[in-house]
Amino acid sequence: MSIIERLPDEGLDRADVPPPADLLVVGAGVAGLTAALTAADQGARVTILSKGPLDISASFLAQGGVAAVQDPADDPMLHLQDTLEAGRGTCRPSAVEVLVAEAPDRVAELRAMGVPFDADLALEGGHSRRRIAHVAGAETGRAITAALLERVLAHPAIAVMERTHVEHLLPGIGVITDRGELRAPRTILATGGYAALWSRTTNPAGSVGEGIVQAWAVGADLADLELVQFHPTVVAESSMLLSEALRGEGAWLVDEDGARFTDELAPRDVVARAVGARSTALLDLRPVDQDRFRSLMGRLEAAGYHPASEPVPVSPAAHFTVGGIVTDLHGRTTVPGLYAAGECATTGLHGANRLASNSLAECLVFGRRAALAACADPRSEATTTPSTARTVVPASMSDTDLALDAHDREALWRDAGLIRDADGLARLMGARQPLVRLIARSAAARTESRGGHYRSDHPTIDPALDGRHVVIRGEAAPVLETWS
Ligand SMILES: Cc1cc2nc3c(=O)[nH]c(=O)nc-3n(C[C@H](O)[C@H](O)[C@H](O)COP(=O)(O)OP(=O)(O)OC[C@H]3O[C@@H](n4cnc5c(N)ncnc54)[C@H](O)[C@@H]3O)c2cc1C
Repeated sequence: MSIIERLPDEGLDRADVPPPADLLVVGAGVAGLTAALTAADQGARVTILSKGPLDISASFLAQGGVAAVQDPADDPMLHLQDTLEAGRGTCRPSAVEVLVAEAPDRVAELRAMGVPFDADLALEGGHSRRRIAHVAGAETGRAITAALLERVLAHPAIAVMERTHVEHLLPGIGVITDRGELRAPRTILATGGYAALWSRTTNPAGSVGEGIVQAWAVGADLADLELVQFHPTVVAESSMLLSEALRGEGAWLVDEDGARFTDELAPRDVVARAVGARSTALLDLRPVDQDRFRSLMGRLEAAGYHPASEPVPVSPAAHFTVGGIVTDLHGRTTVPGLYAAGECATTGLHGANRLASNSLAECLVFGRRAALAACADPRSEATTTPSTARTVVPASMSDTDLALDAHDREALWRDAGLIRDADGLARLMGARQPLVRLIARSAAARTESRGGHYRSDHPTIDPALDGRHVVIRGEAAPVLETWS
């Protein structure tokens, strides 16, 4: 029986009192699971923590697939060029080189693990070749996460703590959770992004950037928080994503009269603004071979739509956050003993806009790299068993401070959504939640429009900002840096 089938009825194992660990991994999405498996295979004793159930993560929801060169007619250099183009002059070239070189091996490992990838490769916007590995059309995240989870749960060196909320980091020592303090000399954060802060989002409610704020609170550099990808085709009034793969397979965006109004395969930010500018936008799925996306079509029908006979209303929603904790190409943050990988990390890979399906590839490639670097870290082995004593969490980091109410989420959508300007960003700088203030400060510092950041008061790219990243260090004013 697969993990997925077991989840609803039986739940999953969790360690009540985990054994001493060499490494803590916070987050059980694709980045965290990959890191935990890699480290355990290196001989480390690992504890992996997830604040929610293991089947709730952005990774589980991922639809379209994983970008990796797998066809002899394709070439990593083409994947590199496509990524650089989507990133609008701001990708860190060394990070892109690593991704395109290593992603094919990571996908091959998943195949060997039994992930049932479809026989063909899909095309998505911004890719010049078919290179997206997918499962059952749009079930990719679920299938990959299930395969990784199965291995993690069976691994004798990995303890899994489900529904355990990390509240504060103690770099070099461990973390404070709602179940007490856990100790290990190294911690990898794989806590995902912050797209659920916006009122319209495709992300699970828990994607609010907690790990990012916690890392900042202990001195880690953050960067590029203003760069947010808004997905153009989310079913109106819901969070149901209609994958870009559908447009790759021929779906059209049409207005109320059935007329096309944009290039469906243009970069996401362009398509999202074209959709967001209209009161009515519909995705016409009739040209698509619907059998290829059977479960997605089933979900649409269950929601009352008839994709085989009439177009589905769509609007944009916050989908992927480029910004996060600054790391080098081995997941090292600026704080010793603290690593980060996946959507919570910022290597500079995505530049100003993520190329479709590069993020699962990022989780696999950089999740593994962070684990290898953490295992090679000469820091002493864990000497202390977990304590159940509670340490006082600084008031600025309490759950209440991190929570956003509906009003805050609307404000973020209005003032730091698809289109921003200085006045709206100034309003957000007074927000109660620290990450909202940091997003606003970053967005105000990028006085141009580039990729996932569009400012009506600075509507064009400023060439002086080519290759520049907006870096936040503590409470100081953001600085612009170039990374090689
Ligand atoms: C609907 C949807 C479709 C997508 N489709 C694709 C796609 O086709 N291809 C692609 O490449 N990308 C896609 N993406 C993006 C991609 O899924 C994510 O970027 C990626 O899965 C992020 O993985 P992650 O491991 O970094 O974090 P996540 O998968 O978000 O996992 C975060 C983990 O951290 C845990 N956590 C967070 N905070 C705490 C805390 N304080 N204490 C303890 N645990 C914590 C959570 O419980 C969770 O386990 C999609 C995203 C969405 C939402």
